[in-house]
Amino acid sequence: MDTHPAPDFWTRKSWVGTANDASVGFPLQSLPYCSFVPTATPGADAHLGVGIGSFILDLDTLSRIGLLHSLAPEVQAACVAPQLNALMRCGPAAWSALRQRLFDLLKDDATPGEREEGHPADDQRRTVASSMVPMTRAIFHKPVATENYTDFYASIHHATNVGKIFRPDHPLLPNYHWLPIGYHGRVSSLIVSDTPVRRPCGQFKFLAEDTPVFQPTAQLDYELEVAAYVGTGNPLGTRVHIAAAEEHLFGLSLLNDWSARDIQAWEYQPLGPFLGKSFATSVSPWVIPMAALAPYRAALMPRSADVPAPLPYLTEPASASSSFDITVEVLLSTSHMREDGLAPVRLSTGNLRDLHWSFAQMLTHHTSNGCNLVSGDILASGTISGPTPDSLGCLLEITQRGRSPLRLATGEVREFLADGDEIILRGYCEREGLPRITFGECRGTILPAITVS
Ligand code: MN
Repeated sequence: MDTHPAPDFWTRKSWVGTANDASVGFPLQSLPYCSFVPTATPGADAHLGVGIGSFILDLDTLSRIGLLHSLAPEVQAACVAPQLNALMRCGPAAWSALRQRLFDLLKDDATPGEREEGHPADDQRRTVASSMVPMTRAIFHKPVATENYTDFYASIHHATNVGKIFRPDHPLLPNYHWLPIGYHGRVSSLIVSDTPVRRPCGQFKFLAEDTPVFQPTAQLDYELEVAAYVGTGNPLGTRVHIAAAEEHLFGLSLLNDWSARDIQAWEYQPLGPFLGKSFATSVSPWVIPMAALAPYRAALMPRSADVPAPLPYLTEPASASSSFDITVEVLLSTSHMREDGLAPVRLSTGNLRDLHWSFAQMLTHHTSNGCNLVSGDILASGTISGPTPDSLGCLLEITQRGRSPLRLATGEVREFLADGDEIILRGYCEREGLPRITFGECRGTILPAITVS
């Protein structure tokens, strides 16, 4: 159904009422995956789930009661797992078959011809409905067991803005147009949304001083990013052709690459980010399948005339729509705002369309030296900033490294994040005539600094 969906695929409704409510954002056409435990049984093993309306359909239950029996045995088995890795390894044809089966179980008008023997539609619906949990009664776990996390730098606006702060005359380094810049991140500190983030301590140097200090970071920041999950990897010593790169991608999520700017600035030369980044990276609970994003594809932002074309191994077919029209937002809620019952304030709105490199290019470049990617690996976009002042994806850019502090309606002032601040990332796709698809939220609240025990 991914390449040739039925003519009415994008307009079909679900018998789950809230799935047809655009403000909810979990329509029949999205069917994103998560890993969850019902709040009623917090110690239970996590199950895989699928978001539909305001509910989570339990894939573990669905598989065990035989409603996925038409699928390959390895797909049925992969649905009885706490995380998505086994399903990812099954490959694109299996992902498509599972989505088709879920679509059929959840679509609104099962006709007599579509009813299965021994499963009259009403009975089947009752069975499926009894395998659902309201989203508000679920605790989310990390949806994927990730072995490797690579963070890129694909927003030319972000790279230019940050470059200007440190190198006003040469904001973009000469390699920027030639390859997707990236670094290897830390996996052990990948955390799921709603996990608090402790302010890191570290070594950094104040401009006016000659020697560095070791103390809690004074420049704690977030980075608004989108993560691509690798579905199927490649063997060591092989590379993935640009035309085949997207077949390796399973889905997209939101990601917050928490950053300590003072630690980062002191340590990053000559080997790149280290302790200024590795203390925490948050991922959102939902993984949106690539197939669900098909109508929201967009051409990659055109390169200006003075920018060289990529080398052939990174050149996508002229017809490729390898970017995506995904709106991404950052909101801030201070502890003061929460105490006063005030809503979070929006800091920026950006779009994944504004990137200089596509995920396909990032994946192909990543494997171009024969490096093997593994199911569940994360390729993150890097901070998503757009061309306008209201589309900057981190405080480093918004406050010009503290030179132009944010003044909130509460009278509070922020150069960087304070203890108790909560950062909320949101993402969604919407267009007239298409179902609105939400990415959900990626949240994290800052706790006071680590103390030595
Ligand atoms: Mn980053």
